[in-house]
Amino acid sequence: MKIRTRYAPSPTGRMHVGNLRSALYEFLIAKHDGGEFMLRIEDTDQERFVEGAVDIIYRTMAKTGLIHDEGPDKDGGFGPYVQSERMKTGIYMKYAKELIDKGEAYYCFCDKERLATLKSEVVEGKEITVYDKHCLGLSKEEIDANLAAGKPYVIRQNNPQTGTTTFHDELYGDITVENSELDDMILIKSDGYPTYNFANVVDDHTMNITHVVRGNEYLSSSPKYQRLYDAFGWQSPVYVHLPLITDENHKKLSKRSGHSSFEDLLEQGFITEAIVNYIALLGWSPEDNREIFTLDELIRDFDYHRISKSPAVFDIVKLRWMNGEYIKAMDFDAFYQMAEPYLKAVLTKDLDLKKIAAMVKTRIEVFPDIAEHIDFFETLPSYDVEMYTHKKMKTNSETSLAVLQDILPILEAQEDYSNDALYQTLVAYVEKTGVKNGYVMWPIRTAVSGKQMTPAGATEIMEVLGKDESLARIRKGIELLQNA
Ligand code: GLU
Repeated sequence: MKIRTRYAPSPTGRMHVGNLRSALYEFLIAKHDGGEFMLRIEDTDQERFVEGAVDIIYRTMAKTGLIHDEGPDKDGGFGPYVQSERMKTGIYMKYAKELIDKGEAYYCFCDKERLATLKSEVVEGKEITVYDKHCLGLSKEEIDANLAAGKPYVIRQNNPQTGTTTFHDELYGDITVENSELDDMILIKSDGYPTYNFANVVDDHTMNITHVVRGNEYLSSSPKYQRLYDAFGWQSPVYVHLPLITDENHKKLSKRSGHSSFEDLLEQGFITEAIVNYIALLGWSPEDNREIFTLDELIRDFDYHRISKSPAVFDIVKLRWMNGEYIKAMDFDAFYQMAEPYLKAVLTKDLDLKKIAAMVKTRIEVFPDIAEHIDFFETLPSYDVEMYTHKKMKTNSETSLAVLQDILPILEAQEDYSNDALYQTLVAYVEKTGVKNGYVMWPIRTAVSGKQMTPAGATEIMEVLGKDESLARIRKGIELLQNA
């Protein structure tokens, strides 16, 4: 049987890291086996619908390379692929009525006031009213009269009050619950829309879905889904419920962390390939503990049996490291294209931005890191004379002043300010005076950058700054040292 998976997001806002992980794993399961990956928009909860969220879904999937074979924009013969459009075909009502006929579901006409008198339970932080099956006792005549009178209704699942239900999850194994614990959940709401719970089952079946991957917040509802499959006489798909993703404090990864969505991460300067790679490892690991994977390599190596049940910690430090590895491996032109806006945000003078970009490429983890490495090119920061003191280079304020005063006329006479020419000049000076390299380079680099750490050596910096600016900075250094 051909593997068919689906990503079934509800368009409620940004793409949460957990959703992207579900999409990725669904994609990988299908593609690993030459199967099909489908996109279905689950928009039956009109209250949670967010304008623009569908666009975010499309954009994210295209950008991450999780290309669907079928979806609202690509008909594969199983459409419509948007639940609100499916509803209009009458599909959910048809199947709900089939359940009513089988005694597996029933009309419920209870109004808000009556429901308010029922006892409620808190399940996963949400208050859920346990319905008392009151309307199950209505006669056919009463039901028909209510329907004819246009009385609002919902359709509820009729779960047995005795016995048990077992469903199977690939990671969690067999899970058995007492039927008496299953509430008669609503299948069709009073506005005629199916609930997520019902539409999801009907759609996964009618769209021939073989594997369902989703967050384990759905685990507790799964017995009820299983009862629907059983009631219809359908085979349920293979279920893979994924471990929770937590933040560094082991709390559920939420907006508060500041990096819970794909868009957040892009805004913070992470690159798509690194994000996808990192998210693949949130719960899954290959046999050899390798960490860097292209999407094609993930397709080749992904095996859902190796997903772990323990919570996955979203470690931003690790993602930063991984992003840095991707930046190092990028070809220069692609890197420069992404780096340019960050360079231009700091540098307004006429400087060789490509040379500066090349200096920082191996030193940053995310693009916004660029600023702190290059700001001194724009303006010389005010710095402390202490910076001239370096134990290993055997330099201090006095030696530095002497070197800078000695070298200034040489650099004033120098015409060629290319890195190579400058380097030769300085090396010749080092050889002539018989001192160590650092004894000369350290004070010069300090004077031209005003920084302890720079992305390049003294002569590379001078090449970018040009003759006038380099000399001005060296003179300033001399002045600072003289007044110390
Ligand atoms: N629409 C659900 C969500 O966005 C999908 C759950 C599922 O994959 O079954 O959470």
